[in-house]
Amino acid sequence: MKMRFTSEVISLIIFAGINLTGWCESNPIINIPTESKTIGFTKKIVWVWGLPRKTIQDAYAEVDLVKRTGFNTIVTDGRGPQSQAYLKAAIEYAHNQNIGVWTLVSPIYGEWGWQKAPGVSIPEGCLQEYPSETLATLDNPQDPDRVQYSGPWMCIDRPEVRRYAIDLSVSRLASNAFDGIALDFVGYKNYRGCQCTYSSNLRAAYAKTHRELSGGEIERRFSLSMLQLFYQEVRDAVKKQFPKAEIACHAYPQFDPEPINGPLLPVDYPGDTVAWFFKPHWSLEKIAAQCREIKNKEHQAHNYVTGTALMGIGTDAQNGKTPEQIRQEIQTIKQAGIQAIMIVGDDSFLKKTNIVKVLTEELTTTNAMAVR
Ligand SMILES: [Zn+2]
Repeated sequence: MKMRFTSEVISLIIFAGINLTGWCESNPIINIPTESKTIGFTKKIVWVWGLPRKTIQDAYAEVDLVKRTGFNTIVTDGRGPQSQAYLKAAIEYAHNQNIGVWTLVSPIYGEWGWQKAPGVSIPEGCLQEYPSETLATLDNPQDPDRVQYSGPWMCIDRPEVRRYAIDLSVSRLASNAFDGIALDFVGYKNYRGCQCTYSSNLRAAYAKTHRELSGGEIERRFSLSMLQLFYQEVRDAVKKQFPKAEIACHAYPQFDPEPINGPLLPVDYPGDTVAWFFKPHWSLEKIAAQCREIKNKEHQAHNYVTGTALMGIGTDAQNGKTPEQIRQEIQTIKQAGIQAIMIVGDDSFLKKTNIVKVLTEELTTTNAMAVR
């Protein structure tokens, strides 16, 4: 009931703003919304895991569907049996449809074959470390918001791992006409900070020069600065060779000391999760609050940041969202004034006509909204 209430209140405000304008002008003492602005998305990003597919026709069909649905940017890992020629054709086709294509770069999983690139070597001995009992808990999460991959993660605090991410990004951009990179899984397996000797020593040195801060604040500031350093080095190296390349990310795994931190990163489109895949799905109130935080922080660190809201769409029986729920979530994001939306799901949501219909309606329309 509460969710519906919020949506109705917002509708009422919009309604009141439009209808009371004339009345307000003749009653200047009453301070109510008197003008409207257009809200809607300029960057509409979809993560399509498997593009291109088995045949080039599959890839073309997926690009057509993405375009029809209202998206203008695809993130793809390019997994599958494709050749470089195949990927080239798919990107060319997307560009002809005015769809940008970003390549997914996920630097913490060195052992994943699809993360390898010719001439790029995976750094040895640079893994995140935690006590074994912590790892056991992390690898068997009870909380649906804490789903994560088990196994070793590379330590993002190490210069070798930053170098690896740079080499991987540059290699991808050099080999295909991608319009940018989308980084994922740049973060800490324990959601706070790596406990390997290298990271612990660096953190201790940071603490020594910031004796006025509490332990929690040391952890927050140190880890956040390492996340920023990671993205900054990748950004600088990529932009040096490919000045027009766009830098995006999914700010994930969540960084507990400051969960909405995307806008503080040197990233053009930093996707902060505002609506997760798994049940219990996050309330519209939580979604709205997180979007407000994104807007508040949007230009705090860098003018080029476009605050980006990431929503997950699950379609399976266990975690599926209804079309109406998807509509309400997108409207909540839109009404917060967010201009870039990232939608992530398994590939199947684009095959459900009732979901595609809602997405098309919400992604391709702008709305007038009353503002104070
Ligand atoms: Zn470490």
